[in-house]
Amino acid sequence: MEENKKNNEKNTKKQYLLLAVAIILMAVLAVMIYFTTTNSKNADDKKIAYTDLIKEINDGKVEKVEMTVGSTNVKVKLKDEEEEKTSIMTSAQVEAFTEFIQKKVEEGNDVILEQKPTNVIVSISTTLFSLLPTLLLVALIILFFKMQGIGEKGKIYDSETTKSKITFDDVAGLEEEKHEMIEIVDFLKNPERFDKMGAKIPRGVLLCGQPGTGKTLIAKAIAGQAKVPFISMSGSEFIEMFAGLGASRVRKLFEKAKKISPCIIFIDEIDAIGSRRNSNSGAESENNQTLNQLLVEMDGFDTEETIIVLAATNRPEMLDKALLRPGRFDRRITIGLPDMRGREAILNIHAKGKVFADDVNLKSIAEDTAGFTGADLANILNEAAIIATINEHEAITNKDIEDAVKKVTVGLEKQSRVISDKDKRLTAYHEAGHAIVSSTLETQKAVKEVSIIPRGVAGGYTMYKSDEDKCYISKTEMEEKLVALLGGRAAEKIVLNDISTGASNDIEVATDIAKNMITKYGMSESLGPISINTENDPYELQMLGEKFGDAIGAEVKILLDTAYERAQRLIIQNRDKLDKVAEELLKKEVISAEEFQELIK
Ligand code: ADP
Ligand code: ZN
Repeated sequence: MEENKKNNEKNTKKQYLLLAVAIILMAVLAVMIYFTTTNSKNADDKKIAYTDLIKEINDGKVEKVEMTVGSTNVKVKLKDEEEEKTSIMTSAQVEAFTEFIQKKVEEGNDVILEQKPTNVIVSISTTLFSLLPTLLLVALIILFFKMQGIGEKGKIYDSETTKSKITFDDVAGLEEEKHEMIEIVDFLKNPERFDKMGAKIPRGVLLCGQPGTGKTLIAKAIAGQAKVPFISMSGSEFIEMFAGLGASRVRKLFEKAKKISPCIIFIDEIDAIGSRRNSNSGAESENNQTLNQLLVEMDGFDTEETIIVLAATNRPEMLDKALLRPGRFDRRITIGLPDMRGREAILNIHAKGKVFADDVNLKSIAEDTAGFTGADLANILNEAAIIATINEHEAITNKDIEDAVKKVTVGLEKQSRVISDKDKRLTAYHEAGHAIVSSTLETQKAVKEVSIIPRGVAGGYTMYKSDEDKCYISKTEMEEKLVALLGGRAAEKIVLNDISTGASNDIEVATDIAKNMITKYGMSESLGPISINTENDPYELQMLGEKFGDAIGAEVKILLDTAYERAQRLIIQNRDKLDKVAEELLKKEVISAEEFQELIK
């Protein structure tokens, strides 16, 4: 944010400078035009037209003609006039005139012909002078285009290159993410080693996460850690009026990167250029050109170039699939909201350089700020310092921080990003419901992590350990999967006697599975082994008849109802364990596999 502001300021300055130059150039141009026109007016009486000159010579009234090689100006002295006159000719006329006057001299006409060698300086300066208006005009046009490029929306379109001093030490929490990035740092530092080994390092890494979670920070930290330059650009800056300009910016960005390789390219808000290509409107096709150029550049990396492209987005599902293909952004790292420990670590980092009173306890601040991003937390400490200064405190007090939290919270409430205690409790029971129910089902995978930290649209999540590769899934396993999926909703119903929208995704997934069981895997007793593909052929179901469609609906409903009932029974049977897990979740926000096993023993 701050850097952006600086960039914008720099930009406005640059813009003013360009404007000033443009005005000066225009003024010079105006003066020149004025002088050329008035000059020729003044010279009018001293001028003699070409045809008049021929006539005067033929009439024998000319005393002397003076010609300069390479010049189209011919000086003429008439017999009965004091002043010399000038005839300005075209080069064709000069040629014809030379022939004409030489013949006259040979014929014995009493006209004197003086031929002078070229005056280099004069001729150069006259040529330059005659070209000057054109040159100025060209310069003005170029300037105009430049200004347009910079001026719009007050943003820089030029990429920013910086030497990042930020290292992994400046990034709190995110240990797993940092760990994943270490190989990229090693690659940037020592590409030959990887090359010799034949190891392929991902060239494009997609950083997914909501604003303020530290995507830019971690990208800068990779650059700083590897001691390579960091070129950054925002996707929205590529989008603009002139068709083709976005594409040429992408090209220039990569050209620049290749020159300074090894380096990091960071593209923020990549969804602005990389969203799915579906419509053909003007802006859209401009995006396509930009996106296509990006794809071309990503595909065109040589092994000699040590460039890693990091791109950030909060909406990975919006991205064009082409961007995610192998060799492009084929590595994805999701950066979630920090958990309690992460928040404390972030607060500690941003507490550096600030003076705190003894009553300040960053740990308890971390406990009270669930759902806050790293940027929010940095903001809180900054606000607290401001409040302390205004109140003329010697050091930042706990009260100052609490006030800052309130202030920041109000802002976040407007964006509806603050989670109420009621919502937290609901999420805790919902996730605990999934975890408890699936742990009682034989075919279901073991719980890996349960969390009530929001992720994407979900208020929390339950992760399961991945299985060894399996080729087939049995009917029992699918049925129990439905039970586990509906375990969240069941817990809400039993414990809170109310249900929420929080389970909408679970229900969607469960319904899909149930439909597939009936129409794809032939797992229904009454319908038998039949496969109906309505996706490819919407009329297939019609062909089978209305009754058949109804039967499918009934079968799907039975599967889901049975699963939901079983989930509720399991919740009631394991109520004590459920309460324990939910309470622990409210306390800790995240529970590991071991902690979970301990709780349900
Ligand atoms: P994003 O790119 O995801 O929108 P930024 O990287 O711009 O987020 O984060 C904004 C600011 O928030 C950072 O400059 C930093 O001060 C703070 N911040 C975010 N995450 C962290 C973190 N994990 N550790 C330390 N500071 C963080
Ligand atoms: Zn759920």
